[in-house]
Amino acid sequence: MARFDYDIGIIGGGAAGLTVAAGVSQLGAKTLLIEKEERLGGDCLHYGCVPSKTLIKTAHVYHLMKNAGRFGLPEVDVQTVDFRKVSSRIQSVIDQIQHHDSEERFCGLGVKVEFGAASFEDEHTVAVKGQRVTAKRWVIATGSSPAVPRIPGLEEAPYLTNKEIFYMDYLPKSLVVLGAGPVGIEMAQAFGRLGSSVTVIQRAGQILAREDRDMADAVMENLVREGVNMHLNAAVKQVRDLGHTREVVLEDGDGFEQTLEAEAILVALGRAVNVEGLGLVHAGVDYSSRGIEVDERLRTSQKHIYAAGDVTGRYQFTHAAGYEGGIIVANAVLHLPRKADYTWFPHSTYCDPELASIGMNEAAAVKAELDYKVWREEFRNNDRSLAEGYETGVLKMLVDKREHVIGVQILGPHAGELINEWVAVLNGKLKLSTLAGAVHPYPTLGEINKRVAGSLLAPKLFSESVRRKLQFFFNLKGRACEPGAASRTVAD
Ligand SMILES: Cc1cc2nc3c(=O)[nH]c(=O)nc-3n(C[C@H](O)[C@H](O)[C@H](O)COP(=O)(O)OP(=O)(O)OC[C@H]3O[C@@H](n4cnc5c(N)ncnc54)[C@H](O)[C@@H]3O)c2cc1C
Repeated sequence: MARFDYDIGIIGGGAAGLTVAAGVSQLGAKTLLIEKEERLGGDCLHYGCVPSKTLIKTAHVYHLMKNAGRFGLPEVDVQTVDFRKVSSRIQSVIDQIQHHDSEERFCGLGVKVEFGAASFEDEHTVAVKGQRVTAKRWVIATGSSPAVPRIPGLEEAPYLTNKEIFYMDYLPKSLVVLGAGPVGIEMAQAFGRLGSSVTVIQRAGQILAREDRDMADAVMENLVREGVNMHLNAAVKQVRDLGHTREVVLEDGDGFEQTLEAEAILVALGRAVNVEGLGLVHAGVDYSSRGIEVDERLRTSQKHIYAAGDVTGRYQFTHAAGYEGGIIVANAVLHLPRKADYTWFPHSTYCDPELASIGMNEAAAVKAELDYKVWREEFRNNDRSLAEGYETGVLKMLVDKREHVIGVQILGPHAGELINEWVAVLNGKLKLSTLAGAVHPYPTLGEINKRVAGSLLAPKLFSESVRRKLQFFFNLKGRACEPGAASRTVAD
């Protein structure tokens, strides 16, 4: 008789857990997946990526309607937004994706799904709904939850997090967003566009604190232009519930207090890892409030217990959870010693225009004391961008002293899609000359990638010395026009 009930047990049915479950079961492992909530899919499907991107699209369409005149169309007198309808569209998109993340689908792959909160009893045994199950290997993929810091009065006043905001039955007239990370910024713009009066309060001196300052400032300028109020270097001192509205007292960088009143408050102040109640101590798994500690192969301090996704507290993105799930499949079942490598890990903030990044930005290059140069390409020089109505935005390509690309940041329309070409170029170790020489369809936004690569190579090709040599060898005669002579005729 087998010593364990399962080859692999997985705790958490979000992006990381589902990736592991699908992979290991298809490779022949007897697999158990335990999920605390009533449905699979995790934060991304129910409270994160999917509802937020659906909301952002709705807000974008409404924004275009309100700005129809900019596109040569008759001005539209738009009606106010009924958020119940917005919310119901969000739910319908979630429902479509839920089929893919259903218990039936995973059962079809051979995975036993149990619903209930799991807790370790020892390093191989987990209790769920009063039952004890054992597995040879375990994977912890319990994700994260909104972090709610202790601010006087906040707990007593009703506030929203990403768990509630997509499921509201009304559009708040006014919204104070605490925090200017990706979630705060995406929601601030979306709700501002839908018609809420939005104010963002950020403790740091810039929004999107992990991005380069110039890029983050450009995003902020755009939001301010759209009517979002920003308070940087500001600390929230107190929140008061006034019945129909809430009051937020903040202190600015100079120590002055200000009081804001809003119908709703969104707390978007980062994430807390889901480790409570997991019984990690019984399993001998080391962790801190920042997350479960893992090595490069994503093994915890117990080598047969792995952790992936948000719960490790490192790269809190769905594509990181999926990537890490794949690393675990390779290690736990294929017995390949695969290590996670985040060198070319991309990420994107889905504000409009989007801000996407891969590799090092300038802040990271400075911290690493690298000698680097920046090549910039503006979206206003991209024909398609102008046709689409985007006149601002920039691509920054960072190269080291050997002129190898160390990172790319794009602030522009569909930047999240545009970064994908760099994902292929950088992971495939392609030369910049290959990118610059590859034909891109015209007119596309993607030409900006080709163009920035070309701009680094152009000075070498069109240099004075190359020109002189060609003139010498092939008897070329040089310039046919001098600056300022363009309007004169041949006869002159
Ligand atoms: C508003 C918002 C927008 C986002 N947008 C993006 C985006 O555009 N792109 C992107 O890449 N990322 C985005 N993210 C981040 C993304 O949602 C997470 O990185 C991703 O969901 C992490 O996946 P995970 O599997 O680690 O955790 P989760 O998806 O959170 O799954 C963990 C699961 O474990 C379950 N669980 C917890 N404890 C237990 C227990 N004791 N027993 C059993 N089950 C348990 C939970 O119920 C949950 O279902 C966004 C996040 C938010 C909040």
